[in-house]
Amino acid sequence: MPPPPIPGHCLTQVLVQTPAHSQMAGALSYWSPTPVQPGTLVRVPLGQRELLGVVWPSESPAAAEVALDPAKLRPITAALDALPPLNHRWRALISFAASYYQRTAGEVALAALPPQLRDMSSVQLARRLKKRAKAAATPARPPPSPTLDATSTPTPDAGPAAASVVLTAEQQQAIDQFHQQPGPFLLFGATGSGKTEVFMHCTAALLAASPEAQALVMVPEINLTPQLEARFKARFCARYGDDAVVSLHSGMTPAQRLNSWLAAHSGAARVVLGTRMAVFASMPHLQLIVVDEEHDPSYKSGEGARYSARDLAIYRARLEGAKVMLGSATPSLESWHHSRPAAEGGRYLRLEMPSRVGRGQLPLVRRVDMNHQPKSCIIAAPLLAAIAQRIARGEQSMVFLNRRGYAPVLQCSDCDWKSECPHCSAYRVFHKIDRTLRCHHCGLSERVPRACPACGNSDIMPLGRGTERLEEHLAELLTDIRRPDGQPVRIVRIDADTTRLKGTLESQLAQVHTGEVDVLVGTQMIAKGHDFRRITLVAAVNPDNALFSGDFRAPERLFSLLMQAAGRAGRDETVANQSEMWLQTFQPAHPLYEALKQHDYPAFAASQLKERQQAAMPPFSFQALVRAEARSQEAAQGFLNLASQAAASESDMAALLAQLMLYPAVPMSMARIANIERAQMLVESPSRTALQRFLSVWQAVLHHTRADPRCKGVIRWAIDVDPLNI
Ligand code: ADP
Ligand code: ZN
Ligand code: ZN
Repeated sequence: MPPPPIPGHCLTQVLVQTPAHSQMAGALSYWSPTPVQPGTLVRVPLGQRELLGVVWPSESPAAAEVALDPAKLRPITAALDALPPLNHRWRALISFAASYYQRTAGEVALAALPPQLRDMSSVQLARRLKKRAKAAATPARPPPSPTLDATSTPTPDAGPAAASVVLTAEQQQAIDQFHQQPGPFLLFGATGSGKTEVFMHCTAALLAASPEAQALVMVPEINLTPQLEARFKARFCARYGDDAVVSLHSGMTPAQRLNSWLAAHSGAARVVLGTRMAVFASMPHLQLIVVDEEHDPSYKSGEGARYSARDLAIYRARLEGAKVMLGSATPSLESWHHSRPAAEGGRYLRLEMPSRVGRGQLPLVRRVDMNHQPKSCIIAAPLLAAIAQRIARGEQSMVFLNRRGYAPVLQCSDCDWKSECPHCSAYRVFHKIDRTLRCHHCGLSERVPRACPACGNSDIMPLGRGTERLEEHLAELLTDIRRPDGQPVRIVRIDADTTRLKGTLESQLAQVHTGEVDVLVGTQMIAKGHDFRRITLVAAVNPDNALFSGDFRAPERLFSLLMQAAGRAGRDETVANQSEMWLQTFQPAHPLYEALKQHDYPAFAASQLKERQQAAMPPFSFQALVRAEARSQEAAQGFLNLASQAAASESDMAALLAQLMLYPAVPMSMARIANIERAQMLVESPSRTALQRFLSVWQAVLHHTRADPRCKGVIRWAIDVDPLNI
């Protein structure tokens, strides 16, 4: 090591947010007047800027670079040492995530910190911490009332009384196993079997056993489940104070996020409730990680480091010596496979809760064979009659369709014109409410033309239907039906269009909960997680599309969505009538619907896993995608193919390549968005290790290839390890 320029100064390695694909992949070196502990946040100069950084141990591989010319090294600007350093387990998580997902440690580390920290001087931070300390020192407020704030949805069961529920035998058994076994656990519980209750019990037990213990509870999308937040707050704030439960998700303001993060990092927060980003929260006394609805695709990040928070949760639990519990009524096939019996190689312990709490029955699944319905039929007559019957009884129905807008396409009745987006390989969707054509991919929005732009014909027609049209259609069909109080039917639509304004989703959900609404129409947004009490009929209007998708995960997603949707029905045992799930399908005998009718996830999973095994697909193989964006398809594909050839010609790659399949580059299923062409290349291997080793070498090859003059048109590329959409 070269001598310090100033005697007594120490060489310090610092991670900063290195732009993706920059040559500064590792930690940067600085001088510091005093030794700074690894994990300490610092401010450092870089070029003309001053950045937030994290001191990284010099022995780590990330730090081993930079030809050290002591004269060129600069001192750190300040150490934010009012904060305790990020501990070595957190750093190990960051290092692992960076290497597994093929990103730089600096990018992952800095993205894991609250954005507001990036712009704070040490003085501002110290001031903020002082304010927090002062607030904590003021006498505790009385325990919060069950209704937490104006925006939270009223919940029938969120009150303090919830702490005293008598557990079902299945719940008790799951909890006993949790205490006796090391895990990881997969809580496989029917919708309404009381999984949340189990999560809360396990959390409560660990928090009670140790005054410092912390729990991380992850949910797919917190905005869709305000109830869950309310339940946790009601349960744990009453005992441990208002600060004990904090949320961490992207819907919060930067100031709120920083506050939550500081509470977690200082140990003041005993429970952190968050979305996928929360997997990186600094929690010095982490003892439990819960991943609710673990099958949900939103646990996989779609940008930057494309990490899976569910997979990282498993890894992190091992690092921290914490327990981890995944939960779902329809587990991902990966997790299901991992939870096979230990004798067959399973690594997770499966905890089963097949029954619903109380007498709430799972709905009866009914298939309407659309082959026998009139051609332009949207809602089959028997389904309509069933909905009308519910309304007359004062019960609620939920009708869902996975397409928002009025119609997915406008078409000229004379010529071939369709409402294509000029910038994307997609049609623009007709939204009747403001008479616009909107591209859901690039955002282009225009007034609907008065006449066909191609031939001038004034007769342009909506083709197909989205939720907006379905709502309109239902209103027409149900005009003569009356509620028990003699009032006309009330229909509410919930989708990304109706919930754009902050607070509207909450108020719409509240309307459903209080029973003001008779029919709820929406996209998959309404199918997930909500504990609606009075819905006795759920209908999927047109679920068939996914049966014919090219994506091998489409059936898994469809099954889970329909099962979740069915799970919204019949949750209230005081409603005596058998609840129903209706499917309108042209494939009534399809095995997927057959399994759904039996509520038989294990049978469905077994048949899917068998197919996957025969085709050597995940979880029986490991995949990565490299995606490239360019001015033209040729450029995007050319770059990928060139990089693939370059890898093949590397002499030391032969052994690795023998364990891999490198497929040719193909256009992505959405080949063009906003005039940018997109292509992808799939890499597959039966060995995760071989795939990982290949990717780490191939990274450099891809960088190199990108600089080739033949790849001028390439805009960017990225590696997606364990991709969900192929
Ligand atoms: P899941 O998450 O499995 O869908 P929840 O935990 O939301 O199920 O439970 C469904 C409903 O049953 C909730 O209203 C919850 O308060 C209630 N519940 C859960 N466990 C019990 C129990 N042991 N006794 C009575 N009600 C319960
Ligand atoms: Zn025309
Ligand atoms: Zn577009």
